Amino acid sequence: MTVRIRILMAWLGLWLAGCAGGSALESSVKAALPLQLPPAWTTTPTSQPAPTQTPSPSPEPIPTPFSNGPELIGTSVAGRPLEVFRFGHGPIRRLIVAGIHGGYEWNTIELAYELMDHLHSHPELVPRRISLYVLPALNPDGEARSHGRPGRANENGVDLNRNWPSNWQADWPREGCWNYLPISGGTGPGSEPEVEALMSFILSKRFDAIISYHSAALGIFPGGQPPLDDSVRLAEAVAAVSPYRYPPIDSGCLFTGQFADWAADRGIAAIDLELETHHGTDLEINQRVLEVFLNWRR
Ligand SMILES: [Zn+2]
Repeated sequence: MTVRIRILMAWLGLWLAGCAGGSALESSVKAALPLQLPPAWTTTPTSQPAPTQTPSPSPEPIPTPFSNGPELIGTSVAGRPLEVFRFGHGPIRRLIVAGIHGGYEWNTIELAYELMDHLHSHPELVPRRISLYVLPALNPDGEARSHGRPGRANENGVDLNRNWPSNWQADWPREGCWNYLPISGGTGPGSEPEVEALMSFILSKRFDAIISYHSAALGIFPGGQPPLDDSVRLAEAVAAVSPYRYPPIDSGCLFTGQFADWAADRGIAAIDLELETHHGTDLEINQRVLEVFLNWRR
């Protein structure tokens, strides 16, 4: 199968996912189209005298363009695009990553698009000091493959949350861990193109805080082993406005090669956040989480 056809099928898969889960994804696709500038930003040369009426007070305009993207930061094993969207202009950069576990956690991908729609409707939510980046689907091959357990790994059968160069192991004791299908940590730390692309992107942008969305139901995991203090503070701030548990449920699983741990190793406040179920997006809850994340101070 050619890469072009695979990409087409990936988009078709995303589209169908949106149809199955509601119309949010469809509106997301529309929202991702080039942003139309408000009339206030359009300067039309004119020889007419300026109007004399007193201008009515209005809120301070938001700089344009408020958002941009998608920016291609790499491709998956099967050649699907890894895309990032940006909202706001501030010097402090924050990142939301969804879909690291592909179609098995497809509801996190749908949530990412719903949150981006929300930001397009409410640009005032992004503080001036913040730039928020969103990577809605880190594992598009798994998303295209299945919305069940077979959708968890990437195209090489690798768990993308076990492939990061932080306490990496190719394999691990399965007691207490997800163990429904064979899955590996990869042939080496950072062996997978999805991980390599996101690692390079993060290092180039110097993010100060990251949320990585998962499902379901175990709670909020702060990055770092032991957890970075700022990861714990971020986890507590999110727990205060949500039903997500902190500390999270301890299943006894040994976590290796995790994304949030790698980020914390670099001083980035990072949390894994698990939605309540494998099918809902908990949108209202995560609108509150988003506001906390945007306004959180280190
Ligand atoms: Zn997960």
